[in-house]
Amino acid sequence: MNAKDYSRRNFIRRLVGGGAAITGAGIFIQGCQGDNNSSTKTDSGSAPVSADPCSDFSGVSAAELEKRKKFGYVDKTPEEGKACHNCGLFIPWEKEKTCGGCLLFKGPVHTDGYCMQWAAKAQPA
Ligand code: SF4
Repeated sequence: MNAKDYSRRNFIRRLVGGGAAITGAGIFIQGCQGDNNSSTKTDSGSAPVSADPCSDFSGVSAAELEKRKKFGYVDKTPEEGKACHNCGLFIPWEKEKTCGGCLLFKGPVHTDGYCMQWAAKAQPA
């Protein structure tokens, strides 16, 4: 092995190592962007980041939209005294007063909304 081979080998090692670092940085940046743009935060009960979170269905899959439809969800309840805000399956969002999430499907539901799965919220003892 001469000095020239050694130098070439070092160059390739640095190139590969640098590529791994760049790839790692790219994955990190992509991961951060995914969090900021995701509307799937409803899984944890927090509001998605959007100008109008109550109408933001970006990131909600067709299957989840179909569940909502199957349960007969409507934005305004037809049943007096039964609405999402007093349903045991409602997930209130910290910063939203007019909508929140539902344990049954992803995406926003209006506090005055309703579906056939409505269940009375347990009252504190
Ligand atoms: S189960 Fe139906 S009524 Fe209850 S919060 Fe979900 S969508 Fe609203």
